[in-house]
Amino acid sequence: MSASSPEAVSTNTLEQWLAATLQIDQFKDYSPNGLQVAGTPHIRHIVTGVTASLALIDQAIQQQADALIVHHGWFWKNESPCIRGPKRERVARVLDNNLNLFGYHLPLDAHPVLGNNAQLARILSLEPDTDDTGQPVTFGPASLIWSGRCSTQRTLADFAAQTATALDRQPLVVGDPGKVIKRVAWCTGGAQGMMQDAIDQGVDLYITGEASEQNFHMANESGVAFMAAGHHATERYGPKALGDAIAQQFGVSVTFIDLDNPI
Ligand SMILES: [Zn+2]
Repeated sequence: MSASSPEAVSTNTLEQWLAATLQIDQFKDYSPNGLQVAGTPHIRHIVTGVTASLALIDQAIQQQADALIVHHGWFWKNESPCIRGPKRERVARVLDNNLNLFGYHLPLDAHPVLGNNAQLARILSLEPDTDDTGQPVTFGPASLIWSGRCSTQRTLADFAAQTATALDRQPLVVGDPGKVIKRVAWCTGGAQGMMQDAIDQGVDLYITGEASEQNFHMANESGVAFMAAGHHATERYGPKALGDAIAQQFGVSVTFIDLDNPI
C-alpha cells in the first residue's frame, strides 16, 4: 500500500471492527454509536474530527472523503428529532455526497488506549492509575473519570502553563498557583458536573473541558484545584488516535482535521 493509492475497506467491515474495538455494546449513551448515516459501501479515504459540524462536513467533502468519523455525531436524546434549519443543511450535505457518518461518543472517551482520557493523559504527561491487569482504574458516573499522578512534580501554575502549551489553548484554572500537584483526576469534555467525585478521591487537581459557575466555589472550599482546558481541546486526541489505528489496520488513508473551537 502507499499513500497515493490507499486500500479500500467495506463500510460494513469498518463498522464491525469499530464496534468490537470500541466495545460499543458496553455503553448506555445519549446518541447512537456506530454508522449514523450510511453512504458509499466502500471506503478509501476517511476524515476524522471532534464534531460533525457543517464546516467539518464541507472539509471532508472537499477532501473527497468516503467517511467522516467523529466523537460528537448526531441524533442526541435531548434534541428534537425533526430535520430542520441548520440540521437539515448538515443531513442534506452528507446524503448528497454519499458520505458515511460514524459517531462514537462515550466509547471514544473511555477506550483504555485510543480514548480521549487515555490520550489526554499522554498529552499532559499524566501516569494513569492501573489495576493488576494494567487496565486504567476509573470512577464516577459510568466510570468515566480517570485518576493518576504527574510524571514530574509541578505547581498548579507550572501545570497550567504546560497544559496551555500542550493544548495550544489557555485553560481556566481555579486554585492556589503555588499548590504542588501530585494526584490528578480528569475527564475530557463537559464533565464539570462530576467534580465532587474527584474531590471524594482526594486528588490535588480535577481537569475537564468545560466549567460551570459552581466549580469556582467547589475548588475554593475543597482545596482541590479545578481546570477547564476546553471541551474541544481535550477531545481532539481520541478521534486522531482512532484514525491512526484505522489507517494501520486497513491501509486506508485517514486525515484528522482540527477545526478550532474556543469552547
Ligand atoms: Zn464531548
